[in-house]
Amino acid sequence: MSGEAGGKAVSESGGKQFQLGDYRIDIIIHGFPGKSVCHGSLGFSTIALIRHGERVALVDVGSFGQRSLLISELAKRGLAPGDVTDILLTHSHYDHSLNWTLFKDANIVISRTEMAWSVNEPWGETPVPELYVKALEQWPTLRAVEDGDEVFPGITAHLAPGHTPGSLVFVLRGGDRDMVFTGDACKNRAELLSRGTDMTYDAAVSQASIEAIWHHWRRLPGSILVPGHDLPMVLEQGAPRYLGQREAAIRAWYGEDLNEITVFSLLPENGETASAAG
Ligand SMILES: [Zn+2]
Repeated sequence: MSGEAGGKAVSESGGKQFQLGDYRIDIIIHGFPGKSVCHGSLGFSTIALIRHGERVALVDVGSFGQRSLLISELAKRGLAPGDVTDILLTHSHYDHSLNWTLFKDANIVISRTEMAWSVNEPWGETPVPELYVKALEQWPTLRAVEDGDEVFPGITAHLAPGHTPGSLVFVLRGGDRDMVFTGDACKNRAELLSRGTDMTYDAAVSQASIEAIWHHWRRLPGSILVPGHDLPMVLEQGAPRYLGQREAAIRAWYGEDLNEITVFSLLPENGETASAAG
């Protein structure tokens, strides 16, 4: 029953640590489903760590803003960037891919379609980091994969176009339940439920990808969905329930010295996860 499995995951973890069969998964950064009003993109995207036997994978790696946080979160788990054996990139946008350079000896997975498209995007006009994808295309440990390929033991990649042409969804088969990493093919719960998308080159193509995500997610009760910009979720009586609590805030210096710090929560005052987490 999904509720039981989801409840177990919550008590284990606060939505951050999961054990699925032989896989230990840490969502080391929960993505955030928002954009700034006055300062351009936030790019707060999800980063997940997967440990399985001797292998250590990251699903997406974030951008410059996440570098020190990513390194310290790895260190908390006794890991250095050089210990990561596999990088699984959902797509090439900077907020998901840029830190691949921290893991230059790892196997780096991206879809062949995404790689070919990314290097031909016009410079200066899109969220694709022009020089980083150009370097990645030539990188000796790059593995450009096709739809359906196994990209890590027990993890398959599935093309889910719409947000970008070569976006991948990764499905981890954990035994009695799966974990589905959607990247930005489905960024958040609103997209999941409405089948509408905020950034797509073709709404119908995105909608078909979201339907495919639902199909993966529903295959086994208790499976966990990890979106590109939202908390993980489990299905309960057909409806998504968030796992863990959202955390999002900004620290600012509005006073007259550096000791006077104001922290602004980015959560609505009424606790926006209440309806979904209840
Ligand atoms: Zn994106």
